[in-house]
Amino acid sequence: MDAKNILNEARSLNKRYNFFITINESFLEEPFLKKASGKNAKPSGKNYNEKVKLISVKDNICTKGLRTTAGSKILDNYVPVFDATVIEKIKGKYGVVGKTAMDEFGFGSFSTNCAFNVPKNPLDETRTCGGSSGGGAGYTYLSKYSDSSIGESTGGSISCPAAFCSVVGITPTYGLVSRYGLIDYANSLDKIGTFGKTVKDAVKLLNHIAGYDKKDSTSIKKTKEDYEKYLGKNSKLKIGIIKEFSNGEGISKEVEKEFWNGVKKLENEGMNYDEISFSLTDVFIPTYYIIAMSEASTNLAKYSGIRYGASDELKGTFNEYFSHVRSNNFGKEAKRRILLGTFMRMAGYRNAFYIKALKIRSLIINEYKKLLKNYDVFPKFSEIEKLSPVEAYMSDLLTVGPNLAGLPMISVPVKKDRPIGMHFIADHLQENKIIQIGDFYERIR
Ligand code: GLN
Repeated sequence: MDAKNILNEARSLNKRYNFFITINESFLEEPFLKKASGKNAKPSGKNYNEKVKLISVKDNICTKGLRTTAGSKILDNYVPVFDATVIEKIKGKYGVVGKTAMDEFGFGSFSTNCAFNVPKNPLDETRTCGGSSGGGAGYTYLSKYSDSSIGESTGGSISCPAAFCSVVGITPTYGLVSRYGLIDYANSLDKIGTFGKTVKDAVKLLNHIAGYDKKDSTSIKKTKEDYEKYLGKNSKLKIGIIKEFSNGEGISKEVEKEFWNGVKKLENEGMNYDEISFSLTDVFIPTYYIIAMSEASTNLAKYSGIRYGASDELKGTFNEYFSHVRSNNFGKEAKRRILLGTFMRMAGYRNAFYIKALKIRSLIINEYKKLLKNYDVFPKFSEIEKLSPVEAYMSDLLTVGPNLAGLPMISVPVKKDRPIGMHFIADHLQENKIIQIGDFYERIR
């Protein structure tokens, strides 16, 4: 394989679909990409080491020497001087083709809140890729050379674009993958995960990036597991289906049909399911948005025009300068979240909003954990077609619950080339179960 083809493909897909914010133009210079090593071996596309796989990386993950914008104008010319832990971990095994398009700082569900070009859905260019990790999901679907990608989810940003672009998306348990070098959206919710053309592709990449990291204080201390060993298993898992989400309300007929088809197929293979009730689904959205926006508003305070990113001519008082730089460089959605988030954690409002939301979050986690004592996995769904506002709202509703709880989840397309994903959720650190059932479902779907 000539590695120049990889870059050419990335460039031509980008022209048509805007999957990348930055293509790694110096990709061919990476020494580990060369088959022939040694002092005098010149980097050239021709002696590309085919053992090295190719991935794309969401643009909120720091890559040394490669522009990293988090989809924001305020970081337009930010070039990190260090690699995120996940990037360090893949060195030598995967080459990074480029940094993928996303909603600014992850604020959105459709990759349309972008400071740069909006990525287009590979199945239908007139539609969204889903968000916020839209570019990575779209590129993984179309690329001939790259079968996996690193994404990130705060409230659904892996499952949603995976479903929209008909690829597999794995969101691991909170703390399983180091967040060191991730440009935070909401620290208590952010999780780095993977996309794959197949469950196997996504799992292989997860194997490389998972594991304890002392640089991230929220990283879980746990012995390293080989997730690939859960592929190809036919073990029978017990499925719980949350009634509040599967009664068809606000969900298109086709998605509902595909969902139940999938469940029946699993049942035919000997997996039992029960319909169960989850009492707190009506507070998922407010709980999630209060916590996410409160944390986002503090995280964005560092973009003051002094230490990071965009700056301007120093004029006026600090407050005037700070406001000027931020007004010019944050998008509308980021500004809305700064205002709402700041309001919700202000003295006097803190107890009514932020603290209350944290308490409800604990109740949500407990309810999930109680139900997951009796069931191995919960399936859910999401889709792109003909999104009414209610359906758009529902697409977040289905993903924010397990994201609030920090549970691992996988989205697997119901069919090849269909923008509908079957979504399985398991208890903390039970990646084995979501991988087993996701892989099983992929084989029988
Ligand atoms: N749509 C949700 C939000 O806007 C989740 C996005 C994400 O996971 N980054 O916050």
